[in-house]
Amino acid sequence: MLLIKNTKILDVDENMDILINDEGRYEKILKDIEVKDYEGCQVIDAKGMLATPTFVNTHMHFDKAYTSLVARDSKEETLEESIKIMHDRKRNYSVEDVKNRAVRAIKECVAYGTTKIRTNVDIDNMAGLIGLEGVVLAKEECKDICDLQIVAFPQEGIFNNEGTEKLMWEAMEKGADVVGGMPAAEWLDGYAKKHVELVFEIAKKYDALIDMHMDQSKDMFDRSLEYTAVRSIEEGMQGRVTGGHCTSIAYQNHSHAKKVMEILRIADFNVCTNTQTLAIMGVDSEPRTRGVTRIREMVEMGINVATAQDTICDGFHLYGTGDPLDYGLICAYTAQYNTPKTARIVFDMLTKNSARIFAPEEKYGIEVGNVADLNIIDAPNVQEALRLRASRPYIIKKGKIIGSFERKQVLF
Ligand SMILES: [Zn+2]
Repeated sequence: MLLIKNTKILDVDENMDILINDEGRYEKILKDIEVKDYEGCQVIDAKGMLATPTFVNTHMHFDKAYTSLVARDSKEETLEESIKIMHDRKRNYSVEDVKNRAVRAIKECVAYGTTKIRTNVDIDNMAGLIGLEGVVLAKEECKDICDLQIVAFPQEGIFNNEGTEKLMWEAMEKGADVVGGMPAAEWLDGYAKKHVELVFEIAKKYDALIDMHMDQSKDMFDRSLEYTAVRSIEEGMQGRVTGGHCTSIAYQNHSHAKKVMEILRIADFNVCTNTQTLAIMGVDSEPRTRGVTRIREMVEMGINVATAQDTICDGFHLYGTGDPLDYGLICAYTAQYNTPKTARIVFDMLTKNSARIFAPEEKYGIEVGNVADLNIIDAPNVQEALRLRASRPYIIKKGKIIGSFERKQVLF
């Protein structure tokens, strides 16, 4: 058993004690729980620090993580150049290489307090299923510290990348959990629709969630987002489909965008804006735009919006630490969330909104009976947690302390 004394739970006025049982679930959450009543129980004094559920990161690419440490330099600062760099690297993947980088990336994310992660893995005729095999091995190696979902992701398109259609089905047999998509990678609009149809067909066969990269461009005429949202209503998959990025809607005229957002709301469609990567990737001409979706309007309409890291140190994004408080802070900047109330929106995007994407039917949060995955964060509130990317002295999964993160300044 684990007893956490004197901690501040979000939305609870007084500081509380939390008792976690041997099954790793919350047993009691009360103002005062006596240590002497639970002999042999491990005790933590949280000293009034925040207790929040662990972070959920629903959009990663672990097969590509750290590749820019060894890949060639960019000749141009464009998305097309980033893709070319990744192609060169991908042709040289080995299972061991992918596994080692994925394990390192998982551990980097977990050490900041993330215990549920969804990663894309490229499925195409360059890498075949090598990326998937490597990440499946990493998932097994890290299963005690992280719940990992793997998305079969056709980065290069399905119908203009010969062999990928077959590989997508095979991927679901060999360890992929979620069906991914990238309709914008198809050469023709007709193929983009066919691409979406195939994703739904596979998802229905495997009763799997869908998580596609949607309209990841600054082209106002991209239309896969609304098509996918309407299809999710028609297929009865409300709440089970997520669009990553959803950039082009930000460049569309307001009346069209409003209609699309209304469809998203009806479809209970999840949007994962990955602001950190989008804000840096592909250099605009002036005036520079942020490249992120309509976060504020979507949130105001009640659409479930999350944000995630997306990539760590690859051809698309040189930086990235895996710390949700880092990429959350960048989300706050790009969405221009600048009040205590909106800091809370950002924090929810990193936690409960992401949890709804990860497992729509699963219970999440610090409540009696739930699985005890939580962080103790050395901050009085979420805005300070974000501002300071504060220390996390205890990262707890299923009632076990699995790590800690310390931010330290020393002045002599
Ligand atoms: Zn992505």
